Amino acid sequence: PDVRELLSSRIRDVQDYPKPGVVFKDITPLLADPVAFSALTDALAGLVDRHGATKVVGLEARGFILAAPAAVRAGVGFVPVRKAGKLPGATLGQAYDLEYGNAEIEVHAEDLGEADRVLIIDDVLATGGTVDASVQLLRRAGARIAGVAVLLELGFLGGRARLEPALGRTPLDSL
Ligand code: 5GP
Repeated sequence: PDVRELLSSRIRDVQDYPKPGVVFKDITPLLADPVAFSALTDALAGLVDRHGATKVVGLEARGFILAAPAAVRAGVGFVPVRKAGKLPGATLGQAYDLEYGNAEIEVHAEDLGEADRVLIIDDVLATGGTVDASVQLLRRAGARIAGVAVLLELGFLGGRARLEPALGRTPLDSL
């Protein structure tokens, strides 16, 4: 069975969302299909093993949905990277620029240590700004980056090239 084809067939293009001229990649049909969601979870868990990750980090919010089952299936812990102000404990934060304005993400510092190699998971890689900020944040938290995995990559937005300086040889897999 061709997993790529299965996954692609369950991603829906939504025109003019969230604003005119944008084509949004909607992953909810994939999540609603147990065969496709399970195949995605297997593929992500396989990357945890292949890259020797000790933790899976999910990026809010759709990244959580993909990362948590992959962590369970691979037998490693799950750590959320959240938008600022959502985590109750002692956090480390990282600000970054958006197309309009800026944003900040946070992680519980105590969930990660020097011994950790993390696989960062999100649904879509667009400009790469979110993953870039996450890489900086997680390194400041003491972790090493084992890899970055996304369901899909919007190649025309250049996220992969943007991440090259930060990632170097660290694998960036898009399924
Ligand atoms: P970036 O920071 O790479 O520009 O944007 C990536 C973030 O925006 C991801 O967290 C992703 O969830 C969200 N995103 C951007 N475009 C899309 C899209 O077309 N579909 C989905 N599902 N998420 C998107």
